[in-house]
Amino acid sequence: MPDSSIQDGYYPSRALISRSAFLHNLQRARDLAGDTEILAIVKADAYGHGKEQISRWALDAGINWLGVAQLGEAIQLRKTLQQRGRMLALIAEPGSPFAEALTLGIDLSVGAKWTLDEIIAAAEKLNVAARVHIEVDTGMARSGFLLEEFRQIVPKLVEYRRRGLLEMVGLWSHLARADELSSPTTDQQVAIFEEARQVLEAAGLEVQFCHLAASAGLLWHPETRYSMVRLGAMLYGLSPNPELATAEELDLHPVMQLEADIVSTRDVPAGTGISYGHTVTLGKAAHLGTVPLGYADGVPRHASNSASVVINGQDCPILGRICMDQFVVDAPGVQPGDIAVLFGDSAKGYATADDWAADSGTIGYEIICRLGARIPRQYME
Ligand SMILES: *Cc1c(COP(=O)(O)O)cnc(C)c1O
Repeated sequence: MPDSSIQDGYYPSRALISRSAFLHNLQRARDLAGDTEILAIVKADAYGHGKEQISRWALDAGINWLGVAQLGEAIQLRKTLQQRGRMLALIAEPGSPFAEALTLGIDLSVGAKWTLDEIIAAAEKLNVAARVHIEVDTGMARSGFLLEEFRQIVPKLVEYRRRGLLEMVGLWSHLARADELSSPTTDQQVAIFEEARQVLEAAGLEVQFCHLAASAGLLWHPETRYSMVRLGAMLYGLSPNPELATAEELDLHPVMQLEADIVSTRDVPAGTGISYGHTVTLGKAAHLGTVPLGYADGVPRHASNSASVVINGQDCPILGRICMDQFVVDAPGVQPGDIAVLFGDSAKGYATADDWAADSGTIGYEIICRLGARIPRQYME
């Protein structure tokens, strides 16, 4: 939800969201995925890009499946999108409104006994078949049935399906180390996933989709593609592991460009201390510019004194600590109203979200998905 105190579009910074970059990345994904179905992950407000608009772009481009993390997000998005396509919700807590989810035609992940019980109770009440994707924990230790639990639950699945309360849509799991070129963990996870598939097969429970891979799996582990892949990062133009291959090397285009208008400039002499704590004192005179974005907007404070922005084609390093709503850059010749680009497409000479991540000790995913809701998203069709 955008901050209601901000009038539509009136803010000194903006995130430009490029449809052509998104469609380019989607095409890249399709080239790699071949016949494998693509589920577009739009969790965390589509990694900060705006889930409604990204979902529409994906559906308009022929994507059949959307995935979100929280059930509440799925319910809200499903209503907004007027039920186009299929939608999978990955996370729900006990007492979730499963009946509403079923009424809205949302596919649900089941990775624990209580989830199955609550979903079946809702299905019985509504007299419908719940569409479920059974999650097995193949080595992430985060969610899903462990293989032993899974074996015990299978007879129940058989019974619920026989009673018309369950549609077995998917069997799925998630890889812990797919962003490494080869890891015994990935091989083990595939082996456990195969075992789970065999358990289902032996019970006569065929599923429509098996899905294990996210972006890293699609890019670096072809054997994990199965019949569906769940893609987030690469659709937004991020590499799942820039140390292995940068977005540019993978021919992915950043969908988001973050920029702000310079609001203040000043000429200051040598010896000037800058921002809180005076962590920088100038060795020589400088022309400073103030960028009206801060950690309240999701700009990482850890990038203080390390990241830089591009203004009028020149690199302007951050000087001193990033504040809540603003920070200072070394900006020769810059005037109020000039545009500072924090990150965008490296092909245009901008830093990337991954550069900011490297400068602040995190990953590009966190840089884009934490971007403040109050920054207007401007969609470039
Ligand atoms: C976030 C997530 C994805 C997408 O991962 P990317 O690396 O962004 O492609 C896929 N599946 C699950 C279960 C996730 O949590």
